[in-house]
Order: sequence, then C-alpha cells, then structure tokens
Amino acid sequence: MTSVVMEEIPDMVCLAVDISNCLGRCEGCHSPFLMDNIGRELTPEVVDALISDNFGVNCFLLLGEGNDQKAFLDLARYVKSAHKDLALAIYSGRVEVEDEFYSLFDYVKVGPYLPFKGPLNNRNTNQRLYHIVNGRKMDITSRFWHHGIDPNVK
Ligand code: SF4
Repeated sequence: MTSVVMEEIPDMVCLAVDISNCLGRCEGCHSPFLMDNIGRELTPEVVDALISDNFGVNCFLLLGEGNDQKAFLDLARYVKSAHKDLALAIYSGRVEVEDEFYSLFDYVKVGPYLPFKGPLNNRNTNQRLYHIVNGRKMDITSRFWHHGIDPNVK
C-alpha cells in the first residue's frame, strides 16, 4: 500500500510504501496484515512508476524492512542513486539497525511499538527518529511533541 503523508517525517512530503513480511511481532501492532507475504514486489521499475505518479513529494519513505535485508538494502540503494532529489527514509520496528542504515538513509526511525510507551508523538515513547546530517545522527523525535518543542532541533 502506498500513500502520500506529511506527518511521518517533519517538514517533508513523503511517498510512503508499506513493506510486508514484517519480522516484528509488536503487541498491539497497527497493521498486522504486514506480517504476511502480501502485495506486489517493489522493484526499481515499480519505484520509478510510483515516484512518477506522485509528483511533488520530496521524500521516499519505506514503512518496514521485510524479511530479506539484502534485497531491501539493494532497493534502497537504487532509490538513493536514481532519485537524488528525494530524501530517503526508513521506519524500522527494530530496536536498532545496522550502521549502513545511517549512511544510506536520510531519516531512520527505530524502536518497536510498545503500547505502554506509545508512538513517536508520545513523550514516553521508546521509538526514535534520527535525521542524518553530514554523517551525524540527530535525534529529532521531539519534533513530534507539540508542546515544548526543542528549539535546538530544526
Ligand atoms: S514493526 Fe510495525 S508492522 Fe511490524 S509488528 Fe511491529 S507495529 Fe506491526
């Protein structure tokens, strides 16, 4: 499933693509159907068509990683090289991701959904959204907290 979203990554208009075959098993999962092998394969050709059909987006957001990390990273590398005008973002449900994610993606969200901690817009959340700027991981999670926004985070 794809959608154009404006709240997942601050200040960006994202073309968001759900990735199925999720290996996470979060209690209270918002999209349990993503644990199944559903949908069509996300090939470079499909990516190109989606981006072409959604003129005006400035970020390509992958919601999940699937169950084949090599294929997933190959596809992310393709998006990065073929669509240099777009930022590249990943919402991972894992506690932490490999270093390569922080060199490949411009935005990386980590952390499984825990009902008692809440999502990114909950101040108690265990999840984190990082903006990678010149190789530096900047925690911009507080951008989701509408009160008391950290003035040092842009
Ligand atoms: S990572 Fe997301 S899709 Fe996967 S089980 Fe957790 S909440 Fe559900």
